[in-house]
Amino acid sequence: MSIQDRIYNPQMECMSRDERAQLQGQRLRKTVEHVYKNVPMYRKRMDEQGVKPEDIRTVEDLQLLPFTEKTDLRDEFPFGLLAVPKDQIVRIQGSSGTTGKPIVSGYTENDVEVWTEMVARALSAAGGTKDDIVQVCYGYGLFTGGLGAHQGATRIGAMTIPMSSGNTQRQIMMMRELGSTILCCTPSYATYLGETIREMGLEPGKDIKLKSGVFGAEPWSEEMRQRIEALLGIDAMDIYGLTEIAGPGVSFECIEKHGMHVNEDHVIAEIIDPVTGKQLPYGTPGELVFTTITKDGQPMIRYRTHDICTLDDTPCSCGRTMVRMGRITGRTDDMLVIRGVNVFPSQIESVLVGVSGVAPHYVLVVDRVNSSDTLEVKVELTEEMFSDTVSHIEDIRRTITEQIKSVVGIMVKVSLVPPKSIPRSEGKAKRIIDNRKI
Ligand code: ADP
Ligand code: ZN
Repeated sequence: MSIQDRIYNPQMECMSRDERAQLQGQRLRKTVEHVYKNVPMYRKRMDEQGVKPEDIRTVEDLQLLPFTEKTDLRDEFPFGLLAVPKDQIVRIQGSSGTTGKPIVSGYTENDVEVWTEMVARALSAAGGTKDDIVQVCYGYGLFTGGLGAHQGATRIGAMTIPMSSGNTQRQIMMMRELGSTILCCTPSYATYLGETIREMGLEPGKDIKLKSGVFGAEPWSEEMRQRIEALLGIDAMDIYGLTEIAGPGVSFECIEKHGMHVNEDHVIAEIIDPVTGKQLPYGTPGELVFTTITKDGQPMIRYRTHDICTLDDTPCSCGRTMVRMGRITGRTDDMLVIRGVNVFPSQIESVLVGVSGVAPHYVLVVDRVNSSDTLEVKVELTEEMFSDTVSHIEDIRRTITEQIKSVVGIMVKVSLVPPKSIPRSEGKAKRIIDNRKI
């Protein structure tokens, strides 16, 4: 398949960066006028900051605008941030949220349309066409994964199978019988599906017809990509999104698999210093901030994602001119601080996937004993290793402990647990149990 065949909307995806900046400026102005007029919270914040809609002329002026936080969505729950009358809203999606009240986002017909195209672009980049059979095993419901992938797959004309999450045996049966070619789910579930398929003695390419997968909704590593690709015999592509902005498809990987192109004709991405709030140049890691510029129902102005990554505007060989974001390396808020050291679960994962004899199923248990933080890394042994000699297992434990010390800089307790003893999740993997009372 040629590189051009993988581009859904060449006009928008490949326009010159100057042209796009102009388009973004126009759309930003319109969005700011719209929210100033229709959303009391934005008007109040802008007034407090002494900024008027007419001060926003170009993309650079974005920096004059106040930030929006997840707490604002909670405080204004459910309809306080709508910028249109309720009767124009045709869909509500919600996020699993972290604590307390959920957060919801209202979509107009046009907002659903924009989101659908964003996912269609991602699926096309993964080689999807009308000849494909797309198996969606993200959950359907308030969570944006299921419906988001579904709409995008339908848009490219693929045969779409709305499996939703769960029931692995049935997923595999349908995958075989219908001959699914593209898989959409979380990377942790893709790993689990792959492992199960292998345990059943099925062979990718023969019993399983998958050619690619579009995986997102949780952080994963390059090592995990390689594992999924090997288990399922596919191209495993990353897709990123969040309910507040649209859902999956805010950015997506092209076949270069080197960062996710941000759909910049619909959102503006910035990287800021999470402490000072100042914009950082491309290439510097920091907190990702999004402003929607085509959303009518519930637009978001400078929404702080708390996801940490870098942006890269160097040209991509796929022809898309949209800036690429690197993998999410952590969050400013779920970052663990263990005895004063910042620890990202992804760092520990990258160690674990590199050690043979353990499976990439793990959980981090944080506690505080005698006022000192402890971190226990519970990781599953593989089936073969579980039946191996104790001395061998001791070696694995030592290797992991030493490597984590060298990568992360702290001593952790490593517990090797039997295969399949860590609960599997059909949605997002729960990787951290923090028992500290702060
Ligand atoms: P989603 O449906 O994408 O999970 P949520 O609103 O529930 O939407 O959660 C959004 C958060 O999920 C993001 O802020 C980010 O932390 C995480 N996330 C989503 N996609 C990815 C991805 N591809 N890589 C890393 N993290 C992701
Ligand atoms: Zn590209």
